[in-house]
Amino acid sequence: MSTALTPYLEMSQAIAEAGGEAFRKCYQCGTCTGTCPWSPVTEFSIRKLIRLSQFGYDGIEDLMWGCTTCKFCVDRCPRGVEIIDLVKSIRNMYAGGGLLPTSLRSFVGSLASRGNPWSGDVEKRNDWGKGKYPLFAEGMDYLYWTCCTVCYDPRNVLVAKASAEILNRSGLSWGLPGTDAQCCGESVKKVGDFDLFERIKGNNLGLFKAGGARKILTISPHCLATFKQEYGGDAEVVHFSELLDDLIRSGKIQPKKDRGGLKVTYHDPCYLGRHSGIYDAPRDILKALPGVELVEMDRIREQSMCCGGGGGGLWMERAKGERLSDLRVEEALATGATVLATSCPYCIAMLEDSVRTLNADDRIQVKDLTELVYESLEG
Ligand code: SF4
Ligand code: SF4
Repeated sequence: MSTALTPYLEMSQAIAEAGGEAFRKCYQCGTCTGTCPWSPVTEFSIRKLIRLSQFGYDGIEDLMWGCTTCKFCVDRCPRGVEIIDLVKSIRNMYAGGGLLPTSLRSFVGSLASRGNPWSGDVEKRNDWGKGKYPLFAEGMDYLYWTCCTVCYDPRNVLVAKASAEILNRSGLSWGLPGTDAQCCGESVKKVGDFDLFERIKGNNLGLFKAGGARKILTISPHCLATFKQEYGGDAEVVHFSELLDDLIRSGKIQPKKDRGGLKVTYHDPCYLGRHSGIYDAPRDILKALPGVELVEMDRIREQSMCCGGGGGGLWMERAKGERLSDLRVEEALATGATVLATSCPYCIAMLEDSVRTLNADDRIQVKDLTELVYESLEG
């Protein structure tokens, strides 16, 4: 598809049909661009993208992949424009026509053929657990929905193991999905392949139903938000940080090991914070760890910086100097913390990559909350 050949009406109708009707309310005030975390580091302008979608002409391709769906602008738009819906709709026009950027093709292809974005073998999905952990069966308290990233990404496998060990000590009954589980599909929807998303969603909803899952526990805030906001099933969906906070409060998990004044700062993942409203549970968990001191960065909670991994960003190439995760690691270093904690597998991957490229490995470590809690357990 060439936007040069796409008449204004055709493009705006197509965007509206794809769910982006909201763009008609935009009056070009620019608040979104003013608050977008990409504005200081790239040429990306969400206001301009919206303008181009209203009056379709060349140049839209250069802007449409810039947004990481962090929701910062949506919360501030005075006209209530659902900017992320609009971005998804514009992308849908291109993804539907097979015009994905090269860097996104392999993850979408892997999702289509293997049901995960990591080109992982389907039958190896649960190999990280080495057969130690049960599969979900009807009547268990929780279906623990380990996201693809903790199953296949070698760094995040450590998060899968720490979280499973915590669950084993909690007294709860829980189990993993079988290898027929697929990605929640959030990234593929954010890059505009709505048909593939619907296929994945149908597969997973079928598994929830067939297994009789009443409560689903997610480690990824992306699975959490997708199940809650896009799937519409009957099961209750809970993020690991919420459950962990409850387990510590009720004494079912007792972190007793003294960490000797370990300074930890916490990065709010966009999909746990702005998209799901969970800000306190992660901080309460950190405050409950003996010998851990929580030191906050300047931008936290609703104002938190995006790591750059959402909206397909994890799979996009970014030039040096244009990585939000680099800025976030610098903010974390400025607190004097030696641990940058977070609660999202994408954030872990992005921030850890930046720690390496900034040569900061000897000054700060990136950890998931579950890893910190597991390290604080005795025995
Ligand atoms: S903040 Fe809202 S109204 Fe203003 S330019 Fe952005 S989308 Fe349009
Ligand atoms: S959702 Fe975030 S990244 Fe996307 S345009 Fe808005 S502020 Fe920028």
